[in-house]
Amino acid sequence: MNNPKNIKILVLGAGFAGIYAAINLSKKLKKRKDIEITLVDGNRYHLFKPMLHEVATGSVDPTHIIQPIRTVMKGRGFFFVEGIVQRIDLHERKAYMCSECAYCSKVKEMNIAEFDIPRPCLKPLKRKELDYDYLVLALGGMPNFYKIPGVEEFAFPLYSLEDAVRIREHVSRAFEIADHIEDPEMRKRLLTFIVAGAGPTGIELITELHDWIYHTLVQTFENVGEGDPRLILVEAGHDILPFSAENIRRDANKTLAEMKIEIIVDSPVSRLEKNLVETGGKNPRKIDTSTLVWAAGVKGNELIEKLEVEKDRIGRVVVNENLEVPAFSKVYAVGDCAHFQAEGHDHPLPQTGQVAVQQAACLVENIYRDINGRPKKAFRYRELGSMVSLGERTAVSNIFGYIGLSGFMGWLTWKLVYLKHLMGIQRKPRVILEWFFDITYDREASRHKFG
Ligand SMILES: Cc1cc2nc3c(=O)[nH]c(=O)nc-3n(C[C@H](O)[C@H](O)[C@H](O)COP(=O)(O)OP(=O)(O)OC[C@H]3O[C@@H](n4cnc5c(N)ncnc54)[C@H](O)[C@@H]3O)c2cc1C
Repeated sequence: MNNPKNIKILVLGAGFAGIYAAINLSKKLKKRKDIEITLVDGNRYHLFKPMLHEVATGSVDPTHIIQPIRTVMKGRGFFFVEGIVQRIDLHERKAYMCSECAYCSKVKEMNIAEFDIPRPCLKPLKRKELDYDYLVLALGGMPNFYKIPGVEEFAFPLYSLEDAVRIREHVSRAFEIADHIEDPEMRKRLLTFIVAGAGPTGIELITELHDWIYHTLVQTFENVGEGDPRLILVEAGHDILPFSAENIRRDANKTLAEMKIEIIVDSPVSRLEKNLVETGGKNPRKIDTSTLVWAAGVKGNELIEKLEVEKDRIGRVVVNENLEVPAFSKVYAVGDCAHFQAEGHDHPLPQTGQVAVQQAACLVENIYRDINGRPKKAFRYRELGSMVSLGERTAVSNIFGYIGLSGFMGWLTWKLVYLKHLMGIQRKPRVILEWFFDITYDREASRHKFG
């Protein structure tokens, strides 16, 4: 350590892993005035990703699933730097903020062109280089398009708040246009909505989309009838929800069939054009559509891809049992950007919020122990269960691996768990009200652009 009086802990990323790491580190180390904890993120808010599909289908307002980091940090004793990390040097032990766009995320939001202010007039970030004694890589992942032609260009990923709002705008716009079009082929294309990927995200999105379309949009646009929209789920594997428990798979298949959502399995997307999707595998199809939502995979963050450390085939850092990056002392990786495989297991842990939060807790304990000269503890994952919402106030869940809940009880449990994890005391009642209004009133058919 350079200066024992000044230990710097740098946490990169304020998602599930990073925000809990910063909060709990500052709690645990609050008496240590010689320790500085800095959290960095390209956004000034923490995003609750599990509710993105509700934003994308008009049931929850975008601002209700984000929590400003400055609000979270109040009174907690960690610093926050808003900016994009461009490079990490593990040898020099420094993270470099984007220099040209050190303030780019602010500029985007400020819309300086509207006020005729040239960009160089803005003060750049005070801290462009951040050095550290301890580094926490919690940068998450990014959508994996697997280099399939046209997917990155034409698909709609569901990964960020902007993605969710873009999907919501696009779907409502498709209805607006279809309402004015007589050509049957064009109407069919506009009203065919495809979701690629039948994991939890794809299933939750398509069932919520179903509710929005049949309970609101079809009722709103007088020239669009119940029989016009087509909802299709395409999946590369043999079945939907391949990693979920049997009861979850069975109930989800049944609910989707009742909703008349077409499921095409063994049919990986092989090419996408603006208005056409092609799939291959055992079930090849060509379908005219203007909407393909991509929920078919996540890979490691691109910054991590550039690091000279061991990575897995989707670009996540391979960590040891203490969540450290081997070969670089006091460097940890957690959450979606880390590959952790427990001894005796065939697969690494999945990229979920549960994993990220539990890893954050273990890493806090390990940094604390290391600072105090005590041996670190090995990470043990405890599966708390899984849940998938299926629209129409239905969800299936499997709690602790053996309590199976479905229907309304499953839905209620799912809502309560999400509410518990949603950050910000003032956000919870707003979301409860939105869920209540969603039960009692129609959702909005069209929305104004957000952000
Ligand atoms: C649509 C959707 C639904 C989901 N539903 C569930 C669910 O129901 N249950 C569940 O357990 N999990 C769910 N997940 C997965 C869960 O959200 C992730 O596993 C979890 O967010 C991972 O946390 P993380 O902290 O590793 O990464 P993230 O939450 O992705 O956070 C990473 C952070 O790093 C920041 N960042 C990235 N690059 C940079 C950079 N260069 N500079 C500065 N900052 C940067 C990002 O802005 C972000 O804030 C869902 C994911 C999605 C996309």
